[in-house]
Amino acid sequence: MFDIQNIRKDFPILQTKAHGKPLIYVDNAASTQKPQQVIDAVSDLYQNSYANIHRGVHYLSQKSTALYESARETVQKFIHAGSVKEIIFVRGATEAVNLVANSYLAPILGAGDEILISEMEHHSNIIPWQMLAERKKAQLKIIPLLENGELDLTLLPKLLTERVKLVAVTHMSNSLGTINNVSSIIEQAHARNIPVLIDGAQSIAHFPIDVQALDCDFFVFSGHKIYAPSGIGALYAREEHLKSMRPYQGGGDMILNVSFEKTEFNEIPYKFEAGTPNIEGAIGLASALNYISAVGLSVIVQYEQELLAYATEKFETVAGLRLIGTAPNKGSVISFVLEGVHPHDIGTIMDMEGIAVRTGHHCTQPIMDHYNIPATTRVSLCFYNTKAEIDEITSAIHKVKELMG
Ligand code: PMP
Repeated sequence: MFDIQNIRKDFPILQTKAHGKPLIYVDNAASTQKPQQVIDAVSDLYQNSYANIHRGVHYLSQKSTALYESARETVQKFIHAGSVKEIIFVRGATEAVNLVANSYLAPILGAGDEILISEMEHHSNIIPWQMLAERKKAQLKIIPLLENGELDLTLLPKLLTERVKLVAVTHMSNSLGTINNVSSIIEQAHARNIPVLIDGAQSIAHFPIDVQALDCDFFVFSGHKIYAPSGIGALYAREEHLKSMRPYQGGGDMILNVSFEKTEFNEIPYKFEAGTPNIEGAIGLASALNYISAVGLSVIVQYEQELLAYATEKFETVAGLRLIGTAPNKGSVISFVLEGVHPHDIGTIMDMEGIAVRTGHHCTQPIMDHYNIPATTRVSLCFYNTKAEIDEITSAIHKVKELMG
């Protein structure tokens, strides 16, 4: 069912040597590597089909337009959206959150209103709301974290006041690995007519997504976290919301008619895609989603959960190592601190062993504040990683301990 050696062959960069050692790439929560299929799709576009989209009657423009629009359909199917009109291509999760903040929430948010987020959000799902709240004299409210890295959802009924105009929470934490019970959050918010945005930047690559089953209002993700190029991502939004939202960026392609007196906007989704989009990115994204579908997300989930359990068990045996984020329902992200050693030193020593881990606050400073730590070392695994690599990482942690006394 799952031939790891064949999978690894699909990712040419995994053959790289780093400082003379075979590369062990476990920085997948930051960005993932690309399979040959994606590299070929982008290269093939440039070699055979590239032109600007939508506006041309000529052969190549029609060809690239068809590929771009078929990529939208691939995204729609991958997250099971009801219509292609509900898929907006954006730069990534960050741009999608900013779009919702400015086009959806800004016009309806008043002084004293509230936006509910959580303590485990990535800065991308904090700052756009904070900036908007400041502008509108509204308030940011926070669902707090429990010690094990879960959200304290017992407080949700109290936090969902009639002042809350939107809930924005992550599906899976990039720092802690926690998978949130977003279905329950959505259900409780909807019972009070409050819309919900789900940050799927991490979840998209690690388990199947069905936006209709989730019943979320908005879902955002970035292509580069799911083996696709960077600079492309998607916003899913319900058609009813998109129809009433005003675009926040103006430019070419998002219009039907322009005069100096008045502009008539294009229909959805185009009215939210001002300017020449990332054509090659969208086509690369479709290729990545097709690749993942062919491998099978259910097989990927199973394999990654095995890796997570194996790594957790191995790391727990290291004296002085403390796991940050031990929720029962986790994706394959393991953050830890090592007594007496700064994460930056761990990262540097690991790098000399060819191991790419990430150290720092992972754009989640409120989580670091919660645990009263400056940073963690994060091993984020995906389906091209192996148990043998986890053994190497465990040995490297022991080496760090020896070197740092
Ligand atoms: N949310 C989460 C949970 C993330 O992990 C990330 C990326 N680290 C983002 C949002 C932002 O994604 P991007 O930088 O691709 O826009």
